[in-house]
Amino acid sequence: MGYEPRSQAIHQITHRQPIAVKPPEQLEDIWAIDVFSLNKMQACLPKGVYKSLKKTVLSDTKLDPSVADIVASAMKDWAVSRGALYYAHVFYPMTNATAEKHDGFISVQSDGTVISEFSGTTLIKGEPDGSSFPNGGIRSTFEARGYTAWDVTSPAYVMETDNGVTLCIPTVFVSWTGEALDKKIPLLRSIGAMNESATKVLKLLGYKDVARVNSSCGAEQEYFLVDSAFANNRLDLLLAGRTLFGKAPAKGQQFDDHYFGAIPERVQVFMQEVERKMYRLGIPAKTRHNEVAPGQFEIAPIFESAGAAADHQQLIMTILRNTAKKHGFACLLHEKPFAGINGSGKHVNWSVSNSTQGNLLDPGDNPHKNIQFLAFCGAVIRGVHKYGTLMRAVIATASNDHRLGANEAPPAIMSVYLGTQLEDVFNQIKQGCVTDCQPGSMMDFGVGTLPTFMKDSGDRNRTSPFAFTGNRFEFRAVGSSQSVSGPLIALNTILADSLEWIAGQLETQISSGVEAETAVFAVLKEIMEKHSAVIFGGNGYSEEWHKMAVEERGLANLPTTADALPVLKAEHVKELFSKTGVLSPIELESRFEVYSEQYVLTVEVEANLVVDIAKTKIYPAAVQYLAELSGTTSSLKDMGIDLNKDSLQKVADLANKMMSATAKLEAALAKEEFGSMEEHMKYIAHDICSLMNDVREHADALEGEVADHLWPLPKYQEMLFIK
Ligand code: ADP
Ligand code: MG
Repeated sequence: MGYEPRSQAIHQITHRQPIAVKPPEQLEDIWAIDVFSLNKMQACLPKGVYKSLKKTVLSDTKLDPSVADIVASAMKDWAVSRGALYYAHVFYPMTNATAEKHDGFISVQSDGTVISEFSGTTLIKGEPDGSSFPNGGIRSTFEARGYTAWDVTSPAYVMETDNGVTLCIPTVFVSWTGEALDKKIPLLRSIGAMNESATKVLKLLGYKDVARVNSSCGAEQEYFLVDSAFANNRLDLLLAGRTLFGKAPAKGQQFDDHYFGAIPERVQVFMQEVERKMYRLGIPAKTRHNEVAPGQFEIAPIFESAGAAADHQQLIMTILRNTAKKHGFACLLHEKPFAGINGSGKHVNWSVSNSTQGNLLDPGDNPHKNIQFLAFCGAVIRGVHKYGTLMRAVIATASNDHRLGANEAPPAIMSVYLGTQLEDVFNQIKQGCVTDCQPGSMMDFGVGTLPTFMKDSGDRNRTSPFAFTGNRFEFRAVGSSQSVSGPLIALNTILADSLEWIAGQLETQISSGVEAETAVFAVLKEIMEKHSAVIFGGNGYSEEWHKMAVEERGLANLPTTADALPVLKAEHVKELFSKTGVLSPIELESRFEVYSEQYVLTVEVEANLVVDIAKTKIYPAAVQYLAELSGTTSSLKDMGIDLNKDSLQKVADLANKMMSATAKLEAALAKEEFGSMEEHMKYIAHDICSLMNDVREHADALEGEVADHLWPLPKYQEMLFIK
């Protein structure tokens, strides 16, 4: 008999069957049927009410409060017809989580009967107990009031469990004093700010008709699946989302045989259920595939407007986690569940567009002549150079620190990859004379029957944290467990700032008689002179780049969250958010507080788990092994046979070393007095993290020595390879 729980888990897993879902359904039949969409509203609302609501949704005008009661009643009728007894205000607090407050439609009448009731006021305003959410000092508990307010731009939907249906209403979350306590309000504000500056620039370029400019987002979500029978035997996976111990497996990802390999059937059945749920909720699932590491996968929807994409991304994470459970998997969204194995990111594809000028980051066939594109792309370059440290700060979490800068994920240094063609165009602009652009070439397979096609003008650079990919930028440094809102807020806001600056420059020049096109090139030349240091097309993983970026180009390398988060307190960042109206100084300060606290808490929980597991699981296993070995050694000795004691000695040494490292970690965790949050974070990043690594190093070495049948934790090769 092997170690009981582990062997039971393996037995359970090898006997699992895929859980079949309902027979396939037609896409058209299930698309968005769980959403109270504009179409459904049109069918059940009086014409005037529908028109007023549609105007709010599509052109960002204020909601007319007089329509709220009618909309609420129609929304309730629809939800009740779907079986809903409860409704929930859904909001996105400053953590990366989704929060919900549930209430029943039930209203007891004077005669003892009940009816379902839902008024306009309850649709528009909710009042969750604000004090249970981190607020970064904005509210003290005695003035804990917080409000949720209906976000009209994001449609309501129903969520089904096996036992019922809940109407979910996307909302924003504010304090009693009106400060944003969530990620949605600043996201909507950042889109507004970007729209204003973008419109100015487009008008200066000569467009008369300029529709509202929105930002778009398509997020690629990477994740791991581990059988829940294993995960349930690993407290670290359950509580910290990552393995805190685990010796590297003999077979890792060195064969590159998982990436785009055939998807295991059990996993595909899971994915199909996820996709079906997404379609029902109007989320356009589009790609699914294996990722680089064994047990790692990816799902990406088609891009949508940033607000919808952000809400949908939160839903995708929820659906992945819940559906995985049903299929006997734990879905790990952590950035680095397994040391030494590729981590997970969430590539945020981002662009800006409107219905009159289209995608403003689309270079078209002649990028060097496309001044609209060049102006917007130049604005992005300027923004990333000026606020690269902010982009680093908005992806700073304890979990993403394990990934950034490791040899698989983009570095913690922010730079822009443009591709050879565009980099050349921008260099010509810097020289002051743009004559041509390198044409794309035809791809010929050398096989007569295969069609030829145009090659993309630039290859992909997977080592860049922020890469231009044809008609959008891909922010690749974002972590897999993160909300996309933080990164989107930063991108929209720095773009708003750059476009505002460009508009100012253009205005001055154009009013003094310079032609728009000449003015744009002059502005871009200035941008390139000041900011081209941020453009980098080489290998972002290399040592040389890390040195060059910092020493020659003056870019910041902020390796840990402790280094990155203080950027949120920097004057130029405060000013950026104030002048664009995206976050007030108080709101920004509160975000620093919340994110720092989350960082400290996350690592402290992990460190406590390390102590716990080392003492109560690993040490006892080592001791038991020593008892077995020493017992056998002395019995053999009685029989006149000598067993080499090296192994015994080695296990004893490692166990002692692990325990003394554990004692040091425990002592270090007891420290409570810190001069500032910054100091506390530094202590966590350096002292605590390195002590945790010390414990792990000895524990993992023990895993290589102690008899397999005594080892208490499912091993890497089991979790990654047994399907
Ligand atoms: P990759 O080849 O980078 O893995 P995927 O197809 O997996 O690409 O994902 C690319 C993502 O970029 C998709 O979500 C796609 O819809 C999105 N995307 C495409 N165009 C835009 C755009 N203009 N704005 C934002 N996202 C976009
Ligand atoms: Mg992809």
